[in-house]
Parts: sequence; structure tokens; C-alpha cells
Amino acid sequence: MNTIVALATPLGRSGIGVIRLSGDDSLTIVRSLIGDETFSPKARTVHLRQLCDQTNSDVIDEALVTYFRAPHSFTGEDVVEISCHGSPVLLRLVIDACLQFGARMADAGEFSLRALANGRMDLAEAEAIRDLIDAQTTAAARQAVRQMSGELSHSLQPIKDDLLDVIVVLESAIEFVEDDLPEIQLENVRTRLRSIADEVRKMSATFKAGNLIREGIRVAIVGRPNVGKSSLFNALLGSDRAIVTAIAGTTRDQLHEKFTVGNIPISLIDTAGLRETTDTVESIGVERSLRTIADADLVVAMLDVSEKENDEDIEILKQVEATEHIIVLNKIDKTDRDGVQKFGKHLRSMLGNGAIPFVELSAKSREGLDALKQALVHPFAPKEINSNSFLVSDARHYDLLIRANEEIENSMDLLEKKQSEEIVLIGLHNALRYLGQITGETTTEDMLTRIFSTFCIGK
Ligand code: GDP
Repeated sequence: MNTIVALATPLGRSGIGVIRLSGDDSLTIVRSLIGDETFSPKARTVHLRQLCDQTNSDVIDEALVTYFRAPHSFTGEDVVEISCHGSPVLLRLVIDACLQFGARMADAGEFSLRALANGRMDLAEAEAIRDLIDAQTTAAARQAVRQMSGELSHSLQPIKDDLLDVIVVLESAIEFVEDDLPEIQLENVRTRLRSIADEVRKMSATFKAGNLIREGIRVAIVGRPNVGKSSLFNALLGSDRAIVTAIAGTTRDQLHEKFTVGNIPISLIDTAGLRETTDTVESIGVERSLRTIADADLVVAMLDVSEKENDEDIEILKQVEATEHIIVLNKIDKTDRDGVQKFGKHLRSMLGNGAIPFVELSAKSREGLDALKQALVHPFAPKEINSNSFLVSDARHYDLLIRANEEIENSMDLLEKKQSEEIVLIGLHNALRYLGQITGETTTEDMLTRIFSTFCIGK
């Protein structure tokens, strides 16, 4: 059974739901589904047909059927797309009928895996489709589209070609040259390896920005009860997602919400107040917030300028010391400038750090909110983030680039140490293999299965 079927759109009520079939029997299955053995649709044209259940007696839906003849389809096989009405019950019926007529359910990423196997795209391009679907910001989507149209693969190709050339020179030296390679040829090999290593390093250096656009920053807001954490949470998200209340200790569950500053997605974690407690429900929250500090990339430690700081505040500031953090003085609307400055001065002397910066804020009036947003991304944003260059954003690609670079550097070292060509070549072959794994030329079956399991079903 090599014909697969899956829902290509999300399961849920919607205008339409698209079911996709791929494999030799796609058309036969559709013929059974519409109860017309003579159905021979023109490729890439849309046909309105009635779909019947397995007994061919009851009409289940009217749908648009589009046939893509092999090899001119997404997978390179015969593909049929059936656009039904978007009812989960109906879509289930149609898929069941396809299964009955000989298809089997597709595994996660199996459509893309087939596209790869049939040479319709390379691995980096297939991964880009997954990334495009998962993109959280327009910047991440744009990067994914660039990768999907082959930008990563195209920039890797000349590097791989160059490396292969150097390998050929060294291999032929083993075969044909009796003594060592002449110095002039050795110098040429060195120069070329240096430039290959530089190119690989340049590509891997874009990962910091690429990963930031894709994964973003995890931010935790901590502070004792009532300092205004939930209010800030809401102000940042522009909604009333967290429940704001004047009763201490009511933010018990961690909430995760996302928003973006510039091109950077921020995952915001609201935590319970960081205070010693005997209340069991509350203490779960406190334990969690301590864990959250450990997980967060950045912690916003909040204090209330309208009240004198107390031991709890100081304890919290100590807790966040080891993590990247911002100290926010909230409720500046409740006091005058003088009061805010005095509060800050006193805090600096308590902390024994005269230079420590504070962000002044009113979560209520939103004064200082933009400055805080900028402060959130500032420690992380590399300059490439706003450039127009292609960014490596996949940890797998980054890891392979780093490994390739290490192998090349190592081989260059061995070359300097006048080691034999055989020894130098080991690292260069490894580097070529690593670069090939990015686009999937030298990727094993096992690895492919692992990579494609991160895709969604129907992709
Ligand atoms: P949390 O316990 O730290 O989450 O604090 P909340 O966000 O629930 O706020 C506690 C109380 O302080 C609520 O009554 C808020 O309306 C109030 N509050 C929060 N931020 C400000 C602010 O900037 N100015 C003023 N005046 N009140 C605030």
C-alpha cells in the first residue's frame, strides 16, 4: 500500500478542509470515491464532483478534485487534492473511505519525505516548509521562504564544490606524486581551505540572529505579590489574559503568552510571587517561579516604588542575580520624580552597586512600557537581525556547519604539521559529509526518519 492519505488543513470547523492523496493508486481511489470508473481528469484542473460513501449510495459531500500527474506534483508521485467542506465529521468520513479503497494514513512528514526521495526538493528546502508553517513572526516566515527557494542550498554548493576540488588535489597527490606535494601547490591548498573555513564560519555566525528570530526569548516576570506583575503582563500583551487583583498571591498558574518586539518573539511567563509561603497552592506557584527563573533567558524583577522595599524584594533581587535580568521600578504614577529617584538611590546602596540600571514604569498608565520592551530585546539582538542577509536558523544546520568547520580547521593544522595527505584527508571527507547532511545528500535513513517526525501529519 504505497498510496498515502492525510488531512492537509487543520482539524476543526472551517470553510474548507483539504484531503491529500499521494501514490500510484491516488486516481483509482478517487474514482471509487466519486463512483465513476471512467473519471480521467485533466491534470492541474479543478473538477466539481460528488463524493459517496463506501456503498456508493449516499452522497457525503460535493468537493473540488484536483489531480497532479507524476512527476509534476509536490511529492513527484500522482497526487490528488480533494477540497471538501470543512466539517471534522465529514473529513473523517472521506478519509475513512480513502482508507477503505486502499490508501493508508500518512506518517508525519511523509509527503515531504517522498518529495525528497523523488528529487523534488532537498532536505534543507523540505525543512524550510516545516519552518514556514511553524513561523511565529513575519521575519521568521521570510527567512523560511528564502530557505525554501533554495538559498541555503545554493550558498552551500560552491563551498562543497571547492572542498571537493581540494580533496581531489590531495587524493591525486597520494596516487601520482612520489614525494610530498610541491610547496606552491601546498600553498594553494592552504589558501583554499582557509577561504572555505571562513565561508562556513560566516554562515554559522548568522545562527544567533536566525535562532532568535525563530525561537525568541523566554522572559519571566518576578516580584513579591501586588507589585504589578499581572498588570505588566497584560500591558505587554495588550489584553486581559492574566487576572489582575489587589489580593496578594492570586497569580497561581504560570501563563505562557507570546508577543513580538521588532522581529523577536517573546514568550512571557507570569509567575506567582517569589515569597516564602505556608499556603500549599501558593507554594506550588512559588516553586514554579523559582524553576522559571532557571529556565528564563531574561528575568524582569519588579519592585513597587510606592512602598518601601522590604526583605522580600531584596531576596528576590538576590535570586535573579545569576540570570540576565532587568530591574523594573513600577507604579511611578503613584509618586513624584523625587520619590522615584530616592527609591532608586536607596536600592542601589542596599545592593552595593551604584551603577545598576533601572527601568521606570507605570504598568497602569503604560509610561515607560516602550523603553522596557527595548530593554527586553537589547541584550540579545545581534546586528544581523535587521540585515537583509540569509540567516541560518535551524540548530541541526548550525551544528553541522560547526562540525564541518572544526574538521577543516583540524585538517589545516595537520597540513601545517606536515602530516601525510591520507591523514589530512580524513577531516576533509568528514567536513564534506557534514555539509552534505544539511541538504540531505549524505543523510542516513535513520536521520531522515528522525527529522521528518518533527513535521506535522499531512505535510
Ligand atoms: P501582582 O500581584 O504582582 O500580579 O500585581 P497586580 O498586577 O495584580 O497588581 C496589584 C495592584 O496594583 C492592582 O490593583 C493593580 O491595578 C495595581 N497596579 C499595578 N501596576 C500599577 C501601576 O503602575 N500604578 C498603579 N497606580 N497601580 C498599579
